[in-house]
Amino acid sequence: MPGGTDQTLRPFLWRAERMYPDVEIVSRTHDGIERYDYAEFGGRVARLANALDEAGISDDARVGTFCWNHHRHFETYFGVPDSGRQLHTINPLLPDEHIQFIVENASDELLFVDPSLLEKLAGAADPDAFDSVRQFVVMGETVPETDLDATDYESFIAGRSDEYDWPTLSEDRPAGMCYTSGTTGKPKGVEYTQQMLWSHTMATITPQGLGLDDTDVVMPVVPMFHVNAWGMPFTATAAGAKHVYPGPSPDPADLAHLIEEEGVTITAGVPTVWLGLLEYMTDNEVDLSSLEQVIIGGSAAPESVVRRFDELGVDVLHAWGMTEMSPIGSVARLKDGMDEWDDTDRYAKRAKQGLMVPGLEFKVIDEGGDEVDWDGEEFGELWVRGPWVTTEYFERPEANAEDFEDGWLKTGDVVSVDPDGYIEIVDRAKDVIKSGGEWISSVELENALMAHDDVNEATVVGVPHEKWQERPVAFVVAGEERDSLKDELIDLVAEDYPKWWVPDDVLFIDEVPKTATGKFSKKDLREEYSDESLV
Ligand code: ADP
Repeated sequence: MPGGTDQTLRPFLWRAERMYPDVEIVSRTHDGIERYDYAEFGGRVARLANALDEAGISDDARVGTFCWNHHRHFETYFGVPDSGRQLHTINPLLPDEHIQFIVENASDELLFVDPSLLEKLAGAADPDAFDSVRQFVVMGETVPETDLDATDYESFIAGRSDEYDWPTLSEDRPAGMCYTSGTTGKPKGVEYTQQMLWSHTMATITPQGLGLDDTDVVMPVVPMFHVNAWGMPFTATAAGAKHVYPGPSPDPADLAHLIEEEGVTITAGVPTVWLGLLEYMTDNEVDLSSLEQVIIGGSAAPESVVRRFDELGVDVLHAWGMTEMSPIGSVARLKDGMDEWDDTDRYAKRAKQGLMVPGLEFKVIDEGGDEVDWDGEEFGELWVRGPWVTTEYFERPEANAEDFEDGWLKTGDVVSVDPDGYIEIVDRAKDVIKSGGEWISSVELENALMAHDDVNEATVVGVPHEKWQERPVAFVVAGEERDSLKDELIDLVAEDYPKWWVPDDVLFIDEVPKTATGKFSKKDLREEYSDESLV
């Protein structure tokens, strides 16, 4: 017998509004700190849904956001999917060409945009690509000067009813969407159904996941355009927890201030963010006494960071996931009894990517197509499947054929598994660089470099970096080597790509090392990067 209702987000909002009406939602915005409670949040979410209806936005439209982490963005997290529409969070850090592709591919009908990102969006708003967009709404009380025909959010929802007759939706209904940067070609869209977001929330709320409850004060630093801030706005609502949103471009001082003032218990972000906070703390006194847990993911959490937070009385939870997985896959929690282990073994375990959360299955496939032993030595590609793992990309049959098989997602991460079942990422099969938690396509950079007349071969690899985890470095075989060539190549990339995509270094080599099958051997180049003789 099926249950009485499908698995959808609606009950999470209902519960928080009715059972936790006084619990606060706090956000740092362009106008300072703003705060209200779930009761007011629920009313504003209803006003937003009414406003979307009255603006004539289709009842199954894709609605895009181009925003940092704040309460208005959070309102779209429920107002859009609970009214039957699909919330499409767009990463504003991408090159304009990617943004154009994404908006065109998703056919967004309306775009919410932050005041500080308005100029960036206006610059990318090519009329053909943005043909589907009928309205721009700026997240604030006014609209800064812009070429876009935009309304401000407060006027958009003003005067609407704070009641809404939320529809009964099928769990298969698309509720969310996020693009992930592919190895080659354009970003790939991942759609999240109501059921995927529901099951991800229900699994991650448990102690075997992130472990949230109504005593928590949750501050997602990971951007809300990154896979729904790892699902935390949904999970925190389901738990009836207090939310704290750090707003546009928070720096370590902003984060420290919010932790102290709002009593944050759980926060989450990429390693770069926490390295920044720890560095800030060497010169500034910060009271972390409320903080119980820092969730670190997106890139490997350095063991030194796990140890440093431990010394400060804060538990690090190392998490691994992907856009394709809504996104959480594994967390490095210690099993019963491991607490007694000595420091070396305990920290080594916690710095691994960890145990799959309940609901997921995985296998590790070696080059010969066989499953590897769980001995912590053998390695292969990690394949995963589960209720919140997608089985396809949006309108990308060629990528689907490559990245999925029999309901399994082939992650492109190369891992070993120890006898306790903890996975550890040892390499990445996909040809992309992850800098400060954001993807850089090495293939696109290589094409840009090869466009120079004096470049015969170019390959770009990610090299380890203390602050950003990885940075791109270009290796070039030049037809004619000149002193000025390096600067010319850097300028060439900077013309078309954001500053953070520009390689940190360009090295000239006689020949690109090749693998046995004739492919560029990036592994060799990465290993040899520190070798002076290359330069
Ligand atoms: P997210 O926004 O969660 O970072 P992406 O889809 O952009 O998701 O990136 C997923 C990829 O990031 C993974 O396949 C893996 O290569 C890398 N990654 C994510 N978390 C970790 C981690 N804890 N350690 C190492 N790599 C990670």
